[in-house]
Amino acid sequence: MSAKPPSRIEKSDAEWQTELSPMQYRVLREKATERPFSGEYDHSFEPGTYVCAGCGQPLFTSDAKFDSGCGWPAFSAPAAPDSVEEERDVSHGMVRTEVLCSRCSGHLGHVFDDGPGPTHLRYCINSAALKHQPK
Ligand code: FE
Repeated sequence: MSAKPPSRIEKSDAEWQTELSPMQYRVLREKATERPFSGEYDHSFEPGTYVCAGCGQPLFTSDAKFDSGCGWPAFSAPAAPDSVEEERDVSHGMVRTEVLCSRCSGHLGHVFDDGPGPTHLRYCINSAALKHQPK
């Protein structure tokens, strides 16, 4: 039996604005990107789980985190296949794949296919979209 799909969370912009910090709101709800090398978790490799800063859903684990040098936290895979959703993003004159939390639809970052093996994926995620829970 597969696990029950996570229940969706939907809130108004006003509700999100009350709950989130200005930076979390800009990233998660307005799809902003934090400045490279500025985020809390860019160079943190403490063991644990990274949950969504919006809804608390586990998104990535420290086991999949690697130092990509790109200035944002990078992961080779999500915590579970259904933790995140992906969407085609053609903004800013680029074709990219956007990564969103599957529970609250919060914007997390983008996924690229230039990561290390075995997945060769690089989930490039804003620190502001994450909260680290130590193991
Ligand atoms: Fe979420």
